[in-house]
Amino acid sequence: MVKEGPVPGARERITLPADVVGRAGNLPPHCTRHGRPASRRKDFALQSTVRLRGNRLLSGNVLSQADRLAQHGSKVKVTDVKGWPLCPLCVRTRAVWMTLASALLFGGLLAFLGALVVGAFTEGASWLAAVAAIGFVLLPVSALPLSRGAMSRVIGARTSPDGQSVIVDKPSAAFVADLPQPPTG
Ligand SMILES: [Zn+2]
Repeated sequence: MVKEGPVPGARERITLPADVVGRAGNLPPHCTRHGRPASRRKDFALQSTVRLRGNRLLSGNVLSQADRLAQHGSKVKVTDVKGWPLCPLCVRTRAVWMTLASALLFGGLLAFLGALVVGAFTEGASWLAAVAAIGFVLLPVSALPLSRGAMSRVIGARTSPDGQSVIVDKPSAAFVADLPQPPTG
């Protein structure tokens, strides 16, 4: 176990071996973000973040987008996490963002497709085009709350680029205090 950071007790970042987080019962009973007692234990696949070249939002080139996606797929590493502690605030944060994301996604889809269907059976009123356009805009907008509600964002952790460990940014003191002791010798 590698612990980094200038001030003991207020570490900027800790690294946990993938085989430790991959077995249930190894993680502390307090969440990483708030240091509150966990109300839930969650199993999930944690991805590594890949720094992509260029600005994803401003790039309109389909080919370069596809290139970036391929690049992303080849570099992303996944660690299976078992029993990660989530406090009620962590759970609520995730639920709020995911609810907002699905509302935008399904609302946008419903508006877009609904306007098309209604338009097909009527004389095609101009307001239908506006509804379809709004629905079309809502679809990509849903990506923002989706990324904010991602498990890695909620808990402030990610898989290392080599996939061998999990990196926790600014872990709570309560989480760090209850970590299993690093092997000695
Ligand atoms: Zn929390």
